[in-house]
Amino acid sequence: MTEKLFYSDPYISRFEAKVLSCEETDGRFACVLDKTAFFPTGGGQDCDRGALDGVDITDVYEKDGVIFHIAASPLKTGKTVFGTIDFERRFSFMQNHSGEHILSGTVHSMLGYNNVGFHMGSDFVTVDFDGPMTKEQILEAEEKTNAVIWSDLDILTYFPSEKELEKIDYRSKKELSGDIRIVEIPGVDFCACCGTHVKKTGEIGLVKIVEHMNYKGGVRLFILSGKRALEDYKNKNEEIYRIGTLLSRKPSYTAEGVEKLLEETSRQKYEYSLLWKKYVSALTENLENTDGTAVFCEDGADNGSLRILAASAAKKCRAAIALSDDRNGVTRYAVASEKTDSREINKKLCDAFTGKGGGKEALCQGSLHAAADKIREFITTEI
Ligand SMILES: [Zn+2]
Repeated sequence: MTEKLFYSDPYISRFEAKVLSCEETDGRFACVLDKTAFFPTGGGQDCDRGALDGVDITDVYEKDGVIFHIAASPLKTGKTVFGTIDFERRFSFMQNHSGEHILSGTVHSMLGYNNVGFHMGSDFVTVDFDGPMTKEQILEAEEKTNAVIWSDLDILTYFPSEKELEKIDYRSKKELSGDIRIVEIPGVDFCACCGTHVKKTGEIGLVKIVEHMNYKGGVRLFILSGKRALEDYKNKNEEIYRIGTLLSRKPSYTAEGVEKLLEETSRQKYEYSLLWKKYVSALTENLENTDGTAVFCEDGADNGSLRILAASAAKKCRAAIALSDDRNGVTRYAVASEKTDSREINKKLCDAFTGKGGGKEALCQGSLHAAADKIREFITTEI
């Protein structure tokens, strides 16, 4: 059994320990110490990172009470080594893990739901509850959780005897055996947990429920605590100020600004489509009925506009092709016909100009690797 220093002092980041064994596995070395401050992966919490005598520790896991430290190079058995852990990372885990306890206890007392899934990911911490929650209930749970945080309560951890444990109504995700470690936040939560936590709820600072979704008949909450919540606030604040500057609006009025912008864009699109239809009708009005192929070059026209032009002109000739030169060696096109198969013309164009396109008998669309002038020349002689 490895002595777990992170249980007696979760704030320990430097320690000395004796190397009991160090064995090679898959080109790396699994080292066992008599005691350690490295938390091994477990209970939804990722392991600590750090170094032993300057050798990076990339993974830490526990098997039958023994903690294995995975190192890139070997450590000498019997030697006393100096260990350091990345405490900023660890403290973030402590804040997020403790925040999750308060939220889970709060939701349990509000609605009787159990936490049935917990994961600390790189972007979010997710907590799954076995019942649905309304938006209002989620906000209420968040408010109550933060009220507990700001009450700065003690977070207690202990290993009760079997008899003492019988009297405690604690939350647990599975049936546990052996020594049960209880994490108690007085009046808020009792939970069996092997993770690391802060000593006072005030150290969590803040819990924010960032997103929620229905999940397996219940709800999945995406939460951030402490420094991670602050980082998220910082990023969103920067984003909202940037949008505000672009819209020339105050940050709190950006949604209104975007709504107005979308309305304006949709109005302009509608006006453009009316004008384009008028333009197309003027362009094709004097087109002689012919068995030839009509070609139009309309640089800047979007794909929808090219389709309208080709389809309209195709009423008066064997086939019509509308081109839009993008000035980057690529020309977009639409080909339409009511008298022949557009797909055959489409194939000729694609074969001649390494193009990509397709569609139905009446209308095809795509892009070609050539300037519009060159394509027009080809159409005049070959199609
Ligand atoms: Zn915990």
